[in-house]
Amino acid sequence: MTVFLGLLFRNRLAAIGAVVFSIILVSVLIAPLLPLQDPDATATADRFQRPFTEGHLLGTDHLGRDLLSRLLHGTRLSLGVGVLAAVAAATIGSAVGIVAGYFGGRIDNLIMRGVDMLMAFPYILLALAIVAALGPGLMNALIAVAAVNVPFFARNIRGVTVGLAGREFIDAARLAGMGHARIILTELLPNVLPVIIIAMSTTVGWMILETAGLSFLGLGSQPPQADLGSMLGEARSALISHPHTSIVPGIMIFLIVMSINLLGDGVRDALDPRLRSGALSRPRAMTLVDRKGAVPTATTDLLAIQDLHTQFHVGRRIYRAVGGVSLSVQPGECLGLVGESGSGKSVTALSVMGLVASPPGVIAGGAVRFQGEDLIGARYERLRRMRGDRVAYIFQDPLSTLHPLYRVGTQLAEAIQAHHRLSRTEARTRALALLKDVRIPNPEARIDNYPHEMSGGMRQRIGIAMALANEPDVIIADEPTTALDVTVQAQILALLDDLRRDRGLAIIFITHDFGVVAQLCDRIAVMYAGRIVEQGPTRAVLDAPAHPYTKRLIACVPELGGGQRALAAIPGLPPVVDDLPPGCVFAPRCDKARQGCRDGEITLAGSGPRAVRCLYPEEVI
Ligand code: SF4
Repeated sequence: MTVFLGLLFRNRLAAIGAVVFSIILVSVLIAPLLPLQDPDATATADRFQRPFTEGHLLGTDHLGRDLLSRLLHGTRLSLGVGVLAAVAAATIGSAVGIVAGYFGGRIDNLIMRGVDMLMAFPYILLALAIVAALGPGLMNALIAVAAVNVPFFARNIRGVTVGLAGREFIDAARLAGMGHARIILTELLPNVLPVIIIAMSTTVGWMILETAGLSFLGLGSQPPQADLGSMLGEARSALISHPHTSIVPGIMIFLIVMSINLLGDGVRDALDPRLRSGALSRPRAMTLVDRKGAVPTATTDLLAIQDLHTQFHVGRRIYRAVGGVSLSVQPGECLGLVGESGSGKSVTALSVMGLVASPPGVIAGGAVRFQGEDLIGARYERLRRMRGDRVAYIFQDPLSTLHPLYRVGTQLAEAIQAHHRLSRTEARTRALALLKDVRIPNPEARIDNYPHEMSGGMRQRIGIAMALANEPDVIIADEPTTALDVTVQAQILALLDDLRRDRGLAIIFITHDFGVVAQLCDRIAVMYAGRIVEQGPTRAVLDAPAHPYTKRLIACVPELGGGQRALAAIPGLPPVVDDLPPGCVFAPRCDKARQGCRDGEITLAGSGPRAVRCLYPEEVI
């Protein structure tokens, strides 16, 4: 609850809404205790008194009734009716939506066609028809407003339920012998409840407005009972001559609806974990740059990552995912980047083209240079032209690359035409050639497949074909062969190897697989907690690892035909990068750690291409 309130009040508009609504709520709740006049007591001699008249802070209406008293009592009534209507509509609509979405098939069809019929009527006309049938009165207005909002909740909740009803945990509950009612109450409802609360918090303001509208037309509260709508209705004949009688309830309606809507938006943001983390907020087109310190000077490397610092700013916490990484590749070279999950490999790779999502990502220091040009300081247009053309990515999950609604040939052609002036026929011919290059069987037929019609391995090869489409100078491959079987993996690695030898393609290959590193990479860099801890030629590092982390990482690799050798798992977990220990970050897991290891920053030191970040390395380099 404390966390929820903390998140809610971090949103300034929601906080303003909460404060305004709280003041209104407290005022109307204590209204009967305040020394106010009877809201229905008429005094025709005091008709249309102006605000701040003695005894009438907000003046009087056409019957001399005290406006402040009527306002507080009327607001109390309007709020009560609006909230009750919202609760009734949410309860009935959600129940209908859950039943339709859970059972599906004919039940779903029957219920949703009924809901569609209700939604086909303009809702205000439907509300008027219901009140006309039931007769004027506040209770009937409540029923009408609740009834016209039931379809809204039913549709929303049905959509959410359909997605959940096919999930594995519901199947598991069925297989465990749970009945429908129990599954709905214990499995579905807790998952749907946040959506119901969010929908309710954002619609209650409208329901108050709709109730006020019916009362304004004389179909809600009946004289002498005051609610905000009836106060407005009674004041309309004096709108020009005595505007305060309309302005007072009008401002109150505005304040209520505005504060509830602001509060509702805040509740929605605080309840949705994806919104909370910023995962659903639309990322910028390039990573936010807030560089501190001097920009490293240019080098002659094809691609050089220089002292790169990439952080994630989540609330008050700063996660230093990449803490000063320096790497470089030359034409025709393959650099392997290895390390446990969360070591910062992918964030380093995404930082190259400014693809780390902002928010929460921020590049806080260093430079990325392509042929000497600093890409961190480059304009978006420049980066957009280079993405996929000079520097291309192959991602681990091919579905993050492919659009589910377009044929793969169309997507390949689009990737080519985004950077080259080619006709559709020429682009399609090139796409076909790419499919052949990545060994897609029967490419003439497969080019018109949708992504879902292909196996995971084939989709991955389409992703690789897309990266190759514009013959880039650098390919950054983030575990591209993990989902492939060993024969396809070998073909793809051979293809990448040919390309770098024939065309001078430089590759940064992110992987956990030391076998792949040994086969493809010229050099290797080992990352731990956002830093390079060891780097050097592949053979030298694999044969004689110098950092204790590298040595243990290699010892974890199973050997084919290696008999009963015990697998040496690394004890402990990688540190959380918002709270790194002082000194060597590997010290808590290192069996060679000594006091000196924890004292201060340990630099990456070595001779020639080999370097290690350790005071007591396994091998002298
Ligand atoms: S510096 Fe010390 S704690 Fe860190 S890896 Fe080397 S020996 Fe282990």
